[in-house]
Amino acid sequence: MWATAAGERAAGRLAAAWPGRTRTYEGASVRESLASAFAQCERVVCFLATGATVRLLAPLLVDKASDPGVVCVDEASRFAVALLGGHGGGANALAEEVAEVLGARPVVTTATDARDVPGLDTLGLPVEGDVAGVSRAVLDGEPVRLARDTGWPLPALPPNVAADAPGPAVLRVSDRALALSEGTAVLRPPSLVVGVGASKGAPAEEVYGLVLDALAGAGLSAASVAALVTVDAKAGEPGVLAAAERLGVPLRTYAAEELAAVRVPNPSDAPLVALGTPSVAEAAALAGGGELLVPKRKSAPEGRAAMATCAVVRRPVRGRLAVVGLGPGARDLLTPRAKGELRRAAVLVGLDQYVDQIHDLLRPGTVVIESGLGAEEERARTAVAEARAGRAVALIGSGDAGVYAMASPALAEAGDDIDVVGVPGVTAALAAGALLGAPLGHDHVSISLSDLHTPWEVIERRVRAAAEADLVVTFYNPRSRGRDWQLPKALALLAAHRRGSTPVGVVRNASRPDESARVTSLAALDPASVDMMTVVTVGNTATREIAGRMVTPRGYRWQSTEAGR
Ligand code: SAH
Repeated sequence: MWATAAGERAAGRLAAAWPGRTRTYEGASVRESLASAFAQCERVVCFLATGATVRLLAPLLVDKASDPGVVCVDEASRFAVALLGGHGGGANALAEEVAEVLGARPVVTTATDARDVPGLDTLGLPVEGDVAGVSRAVLDGEPVRLARDTGWPLPALPPNVAADAPGPAVLRVSDRALALSEGTAVLRPPSLVVGVGASKGAPAEEVYGLVLDALAGAGLSAASVAALVTVDAKAGEPGVLAAAERLGVPLRTYAAEELAAVRVPNPSDAPLVALGTPSVAEAAALAGGGELLVPKRKSAPEGRAAMATCAVVRRPVRGRLAVVGLGPGARDLLTPRAKGELRRAAVLVGLDQYVDQIHDLLRPGTVVIESGLGAEEERARTAVAEARAGRAVALIGSGDAGVYAMASPALAEAGDDIDVVGVPGVTAALAAGALLGAPLGHDHVSISLSDLHTPWEVIERRVRAAAEADLVVTFYNPRSRGRDWQLPKALALLAAHRRGSTPVGVVRNASRPDESARVTSLAALDPASVDMMTVVTVGNTATREIAGRMVTPRGYRWQSTEAGR
């Protein structure tokens, strides 16, 4: 939606960047296009002055809960202003995204975002009740009593929000239907699973109505339903699909054999004959474990037989462990997803120097458990134990957390009683490769020269194999004060199969303030110039130095192998 040629161009850039997600509005008048966009879209970007937008929108505003989020972009695409619906309408997040595409600066004026205290509606859970009032209390540092009916791994909350805070403001975490009073907001954890069974052609209203009745009868809130579940054979049943859509939750299905193995209080013969399981609703609801709150009940349509059944289960609380790679050092090589996971956590576990690197990104109130070098096993155990206690934990590592880092010891500890989320990071070999040129253009391998946990014979065997296979090799942990003969030894093993002129890249502190990168050769490399902050990448027999850059040909026919020599 725009009024000038510059606005039209910028709108075109957004539409090109987000195919399938955007719709452009241009009509007889700006007023009319804006009115249509406002009525039809979840979020609106106006390439218009804020003043004009405010005047045009004023008569159309209904309320915070239903109005779309609105972002304004100025004529020169310098600013993306979250004008309306910052949290609920998603305008704050949209302003950030629009700013990224257009190279503009996001402007967010909502108090909670500006002061970095979480708005209650940014915690990743639906929230109802006196959201504005309780958010204000949280922000103003007033005591807010945290009442948790339902355990759920929440992100960090600031210290004034606590179980023993006197109130009067109250933040409840609950899946129960509650009469909400002023000063109380309720976070709705996705703690309920509703199992449904349906005869062929069961009407949507019958399925949906039954689910709502079952929830209401047990004093439960529909906002806490995480999923509708049923048997595979009903995956396409229109009434079930429609009920899931009206609840705003996904429909998940299980194989009949899986359901037949679940013990249920109310099995029956009819589904056993038709589907091969004595229970659909109860078995599907209980398949993931948990407590049966509403045993199987049937719909009660007037004048004919019931066509739907349903059962409700409260899922067991599962802690959440995010294993997060921070990248090689520079903030802009930390992925947005990693940032999101750091803000999703209530507990952060990591090496002290990595914690320092991202401390400013944490939500106020995040519990930080840091330790020094070498305490890996202990860190892994701590992170898993915290997650087992039902908390949201982020375990961090530099580069990629799965490469010579914390992911393996942590996952060796973890059982299937916690949820694990991995976030990839830019590992040192890649950060170094980008500085050196294109050394990893063909098959390559990483080898750690640390013999702390691996016997030297094993390392040596792998280096020999890489030498014989003509793989590009990146050495991690190449050399430390007490460990200085391994790198020359490893280079000598490679030199038995590669010429002395083979390019070697030495990168120290990639993407950190004192970064250095140089290309030398197998014959000329001085091992004394290498330390633990360094990776060393040795080319294969085709790798060349071109214009000071290390280039390994891809070896396809269009790129003559001769050119690689
Ligand atoms: N998980 C990390 C690796 C940990 S092992 C990753 O994926 O990058 C530690 C070794 O990684 C160091 O001894 C060094 O060889 C290498 N390393 C890590 N960060 C580096 C950086 N920014 N520059 C150069 N080497 C780095």
